[in-house]
Parts: sequence; structure tokens; C-alpha cells
Amino acid sequence: MKVAFFDAKPYDKPSFDRYGAENSIEFKYFETKLNEDTAELANGYDAVCAFVNDTVDAKVIDKLCGMGIKVLALRCAGFNNVDMKYAYGKLHVLRVPAYSPYAVAEHAMALLLTSIRRIHKAYIRSRDFNFSLSGLTGFDLHGKTVGVIGTGRIGRVFIDICRGFGMKVLAYDKFPAQGLDNGDTVRYVGTDELFANSDIISLHCPLTEETYHIVSEESLQKCKKGVVLINTSRGALVDAEALLNGIKSRKVGAACLDVYEEESNLFFEDNSGHILEDDTLARLISMPNVIVTSHQAFLTEEALENIAETTVLNLVEFFNKNQCENELCYRFGNTEDCKNGKCF
Ligand code: NAD
Repeated sequence: MKVAFFDAKPYDKPSFDRYGAENSIEFKYFETKLNEDTAELANGYDAVCAFVNDTVDAKVIDKLCGMGIKVLALRCAGFNNVDMKYAYGKLHVLRVPAYSPYAVAEHAMALLLTSIRRIHKAYIRSRDFNFSLSGLTGFDLHGKTVGVIGTGRIGRVFIDICRGFGMKVLAYDKFPAQGLDNGDTVRYVGTDELFANSDIISLHCPLTEETYHIVSEESLQKCKKGVVLINTSRGALVDAEALLNGIKSRKVGAACLDVYEEESNLFFEDNSGHILEDDTLARLISMPNVIVTSHQAFLTEEALENIAETTVLNLVEFFNKNQCENELCYRFGNTEDCKNGKCF
């Protein structure tokens, strides 16, 4: 089986080559992202493998189907970049529903600790033999309240980590997890209560029409002064302009961003020699209390192994049985895992 692999990075290849070779799958790595202009590169391949910033809209779906391609293997969990409604009945979409939730949850905590203990400042100072502590005062996490939006696999690991720090947790999820609310240190609440009472807010829900700009001018108004925002989920959960205004007005004490609304043409690439056109991102990065990493939270050895293994096994399962447990189905206005096998 030959698979066109878009948006390929050097760190993808070792694990995909290994699992591919074990399962008679040959990957052709294209550095370019998948979009309307590049879809033709997939001509002659049996399937396409795509990542978070590839574009799989109606035009791309039509092009892929026109070349006889019936399978898209996403090597990620999120699928907000795929027009699932349009794909239904045309293109089978497989995904990696879970891979090391620890990678993302631990990165969220790494960003939080870096930010509130000013590690990013201290690192640069001490490299310049500046051992002054002025301006480096942080605060204890112990006893603070963290609001966690989305209590799925990653959200729950993040909650466990926070509980290890002695924090209280206010959780919100459209579909609350059984047994998580203990009525004491972890409580499910509505978003209004979460925004109003959290010292730190961390986003772990998917990007959907409902969650788009869940952090907005309006929701930030409800927050405590000095709230710390962590977003390791999807950029468009946060209205970046509203966040910038919140930082300027001192309402937001700090922001830790691994994702950004307009990241697709910037993140994962070296833009250091270019003029950054995105004024909002440039302004955010210029703030002393904003830390930006470029969609790095998933990037651990364990997660890369999990991703390659599941992607390859998804393709093998689909091509052997014409169905796959990790296929996504669009039905009745919702996209969900097609646990029962064949989607259409
Ligand atoms: P998951 O499916 O296990 O959990 C998502 C949770 O969000 C579920 O409990 C679900 O009920 C909840 N949810 C759905 N709609 C909601 C809504 N409207 N309001 C509140 N909660 C809602 O997913 P996960 O594996 O925990 O991943 C969470 C997100 O993390 C993914 O959607 C993805 O966007 C992001 N992610 C980021 C990276 C990265 O490298 N930065 C890596 C992997 C995943």
C-alpha cells in the first residue's frame, strides 16, 4: 500500500517508516501541507495521511475522490480541519483518537509553571550572568483553583496533575465524566461559575461550533483579575484579539498558548527570517507574561510512537476489512467515532 503523507517533518519519519515497513506500507513524505493546490500530489496513492494544519475542505475532498482515493488517515485526534459533513459518503476518515494524553497534559503544566515562576525570564538572565531576582516573584499553585474545560483523556490527566499540586478543580464538560466529581476537590460547574472562580483556566475540549471562541471578550469579563489562561487544545477556542485586550487591561495575568487561531501558516516552520504579518500574534509574543510554543504539546517520543502505530494499524484494518474502529462518522449533525465498524 502506498500512502501520500502531507506536512511531513523529520521527527515523523523514523516511527512511520518502522511501523510502515512492518505492515507493508510505503509512505511518500511531502513537506508541503495538503490543500487545494497540493492535493494532486496524492495521485496514484492508495490513501492520504494528514495532520492538524492540512486543509481537507470540500475542494480537497473532491480532488482526492476524483483520483480514486477513498481513505484519509489523520495522524491526530482533532478533526476540525476536515469538512466531515462533506466527506460523509465520499471519503473514509480515520483518526488517532488517543495517544499519550500525558504528553499534552504535562506540556500544559510545564507552560503554567514556566509562566508563573518566570522560568523563561530566569533562564535568559542567568545565561547573561544576571542573577538578580527582581521581577521574578511567582505564586504557589497549592490551594489555587483551576478551571478545566473538557474532561476527556487529556483534561483528566491534567486534573490529576493539578490535584498533585494541591489545587482545587472546577470542571466543565458537555458530557461530564462519571465518578470525577467528588463534591470537594473536583466539582463540575457551569461555565459562568468556572470563569468567575478560577485562578487558572485550562482548555481541553475540541474545537466545535459550540466551543469556538469559548474564551471571548464576554467570558474574560467574568474572570478573576489576574487569571492565567492555558490553551493546549485548538487556537480558535480563544478569541486572540480579546485575549490581547485582556492582557493589556491587566485582566489576564498570563497566557500560555501552544495553539493559536491563525497558526496554520506559521507554526511548525522556521519563520525567523521573515517579517511576521500577524500583528496580534506579534503583540502577544512581545508580552512578558505570554508564552507561546508552536503546537508542541504532543511532541514526545511516546506520543510519536503511539501516533505512528495507530495510524498504520488503522490503514491496515481499513484495507483488510473495509472498515476501521477508528473511523469518524458524520451523522445527524454530529461527528463521532464509528465504533461499530463501517461508516458508509
Ligand atoms: P477527548 O475526546 O478525550 O476529550 C474531549 C472532551 O471535551 C470530552 O470529554 C468531551 O465531552 C468534551 N467536550 C466536547 N464538546 C464540548 C463542549 N462543547 N464543551 C465542553 N466540553 C466539550 O479529547 P482529548 O484527547 O482529551 O483531546 C482534547 C483536545 O486536545 C483535542 O480536541 C485537541 O484539540 C487537543 N489536542 C492538542 C494537542 C497538542 O499538541 N496541542 C494534541 C492532542 C490533542
